[in-house]
Amino acid sequence: MRIDLHTHSTASDGTDTPAGLVAAAARAGLAVVAITDHDTTAGWAEAAAALPPGLRLIRGAELSCMSPDGRGGQCSVHLLAYLYDPDADAVVSAHARSRAERRERFRRIAGSMAADGLPIDADTLLGALPPGATPGRPHLAMALVRAGVASTVDEAFARFLNDRGRYYLPSSRTPVLEAIGMVRAAGGVTVLAHPFAHRRGPTVTGSVIAELAAAGLDGVEVDHPDHDDETRAKLRGLAGELGLVVTGSSDYHGTNKTVYLGQESTAPEMLEAIADRASGAEILGCV
Ligand code: AMP
Ligand code: FE
Ligand code: FE
Ligand code: ZN
Repeated sequence: MRIDLHTHSTASDGTDTPAGLVAAAARAGLAVVAITDHDTTAGWAEAAAALPPGLRLIRGAELSCMSPDGRGGQCSVHLLAYLYDPDADAVVSAHARSRAERRERFRRIAGSMAADGLPIDADTLLGALPPGATPGRPHLAMALVRAGVASTVDEAFARFLNDRGRYYLPSSRTPVLEAIGMVRAAGGVTVLAHPFAHRRGPTVTGSVIAELAAAGLDGVEVDHPDHDDETRAKLRGLAGELGLVVTGSSDYHGTNKTVYLGQESTAPEMLEAIADRASGAEILGCV
């Protein structure tokens, strides 16, 4: 039984529509899939309406947050939130604030690319997004690929968009402790996404994870494509010490990344622990 708890649709920076995502998850033989678009619940209704028989759907999101890094500074972290009440005011307004800030950042990045002669137009790209969708750097990368400036999204990131790149601007983010509290208050469960994915930039220390656990964090994503074996072992040990739920997920983004649905998987007893802790929404589909 494959359980994939971290995937993206066209409601953020994936390339499958929410209906396409659940269809692909069924074709990949998954028993359970979570839709976790960045800072939005805009894909939930379509994914739920298109849910194929035999597949269960967990409605979630991946919140852009900032955290103490454990070295006296701050760093960016992603917080997976599952099964929270989608009408909870604090969460709804945090998502809306993040999206508004991301649109502003998107315009600034697009503007400086256009000023250098790159074929990027913010209005066209933002106008093509589905309602409530979250814009991100992959939309700029895809536009560069469509225009023939780069041959792949990865190449576009490497040349223009990664965190050390010429056009990079950070996005502003919700403090992670606040995010954990608001998701919890909305009956949801939180899992720190890819906590030690160093390739993406600076990450938190183990002692920060201990602090987050003390503040109500439920779990950590251990089996993730950006974690090597040594990192997984270290994180699994830490999760054991702290009594955290351990998850495994692909972080599927359709054709924007080379990972496939079900490439990593969560143990059924860990999913059960998540379901037991949640009170904001139900897992959809039959057992
Ligand atoms: P943003 O949220 O706008 O800062 O963009 C970050 C997103 O870009 C991540 O969620 C990934 O989906 C994607 N991403 C980051 N680095 C790369 C990369 N090197 N190649 C392809 N996609 C990437
Ligand atoms: Fe993404
Ligand atoms: Fe992430
Ligand atoms: Zn993700």
